[in-house]
Amino acid sequence: MSVVTERPAVPSNEPTFRQSVDLMFNRAVALMDLPPGLEEKIRVCNATYTVRFGVRLRGKIQTFTGYRSVHSEHMEPVKGGIRFAPEVNQDEVEALAALMTYKCALVETPFGGSKGGLCVDPRQYDEHELEQITRRFAYELIKRDLINPSQNVPAPDMGTSEREMAWIADQYRRMHTTDINGNACVTGKPTNAGGIQGRTEATGRGVQYALREFFRHTEDKAKAGLAGTLDGKRIVVQGLGNVGFHAAKFLQEEDGARITGIIERDGALFNPDGLDVQSVRDWIVRHGGVTGYPDANHTAEGAQVLEAECDILIPAALEGVINLGNAHNIKASLIIEAANGPITAGADDILRERGVVIIPDMYANAGGVTVSYFEWVKNLSHIRFGRMQRRQEEARHELIVRELERLSDHLGDKWSMTPDFKARYLRGADELELVRSGLDDTMRIAYQSISEVWHSRKDVTDLRTAAFIVAIDRVAASYRAKGL
Ligand code: GLU
Repeated sequence: MSVVTERPAVPSNEPTFRQSVDLMFNRAVALMDLPPGLEEKIRVCNATYTVRFGVRLRGKIQTFTGYRSVHSEHMEPVKGGIRFAPEVNQDEVEALAALMTYKCALVETPFGGSKGGLCVDPRQYDEHELEQITRRFAYELIKRDLINPSQNVPAPDMGTSEREMAWIADQYRRMHTTDINGNACVTGKPTNAGGIQGRTEATGRGVQYALREFFRHTEDKAKAGLAGTLDGKRIVVQGLGNVGFHAAKFLQEEDGARITGIIERDGALFNPDGLDVQSVRDWIVRHGGVTGYPDANHTAEGAQVLEAECDILIPAALEGVINLGNAHNIKASLIIEAANGPITAGADDILRERGVVIIPDMYANAGGVTVSYFEWVKNLSHIRFGRMQRRQEEARHELIVRELERLSDHLGDKWSMTPDFKARYLRGADELELVRSGLDDTMRIAYQSISEVWHSRKDVTDLRTAAFIVAIDRVAASYRAKGL
């Protein structure tokens, strides 16, 4: 299920989403020493394609508008999701494409940045109609190489899921019947159609790994007024779609965090003792919203719960939800941006001045594109990760275990192995374990690179600016290598 949340009322004196991203970019480049003109070359969006196409539905032709924006081609293919939402517009798609450029650079996936959007409310159409609409949109993009394994590789985003990706991949193969790498034209596909284990949970899993890494850095935690581990920390999450659900579920079940608030389209649930994430999700799937959920307080004014007392706030829905209208009232001392652009540039200034620590979107939600990268590599190599090594790894482990058993026979019962050690140690890693390991490694390394800049430079006072500096530096290096 992918949730489309209603747009918040962003105060009209705020810049647009794209301007907001540019303002944050400008803050960072002002602290960098880039060759003249390169700053603008990196900031601007290279091209945005707009398409209007008709689909015959319910006895008449309905016209749809879609976009695919390419922000930077310093590396190709360019990468980024396609969202389906009624209010999608060029400004938004360009902002999101820019964020993809910086995100890919930060987590070292070899892609430029892109994003697509289709103005459609998926809730208004049945599955067959959505397939027709998706295939038609894909056709328009494929014939212009705006979907192509070596040039532009979309993925799921708000309002789309593995189902749409499977339709897009199939559409591409129909139009390029001899392209052996056709499956790599899109990521986030179902596992039975060229996908990879762990892609659906990847963005939420990445949020969990990002928080775990943050909590390993005592000094960084202290800046957010936090100590200890994630165990018992109070978390409010906005949006229980794919990203928010997985992040909240893993943090609750595996790290012992307490999910005290869940904000959805039809209001918010609040329970200081903690909400059961899986059961709230099941309720939403059955009833279409959180209203009526037992064991919690419900308020129709969902956005107010963004301002509730908590340790960590996870906006995992839409852009612009924390803005000039509510930034002063946010009580969380740590915000992790699971959504793209949930904090406007103005709100970012206010929160920074108030000492709130923000783990920025381009890092926090990069788990999705990281595992997309693994999927793309899998598609191009035409082999499942671990297929060649797994049994060989098990055989080598077997050797060690046998040797340990032989030694422990001589040493007596006191030195015997713990009961499940043998089974756990013997088993070679499967694809899901390898994907999680690669994702964990990526999230740790990327955090360390931004934290290093945050700590080593006096003029860098926040993680977002540090993340921009790391990302822009890499994009600039890539342009320099091209002789630009
Ligand atoms: N839509 C996701 C994002 O915003 C995933 C992009 C991808 O996997 O290409 O990061």
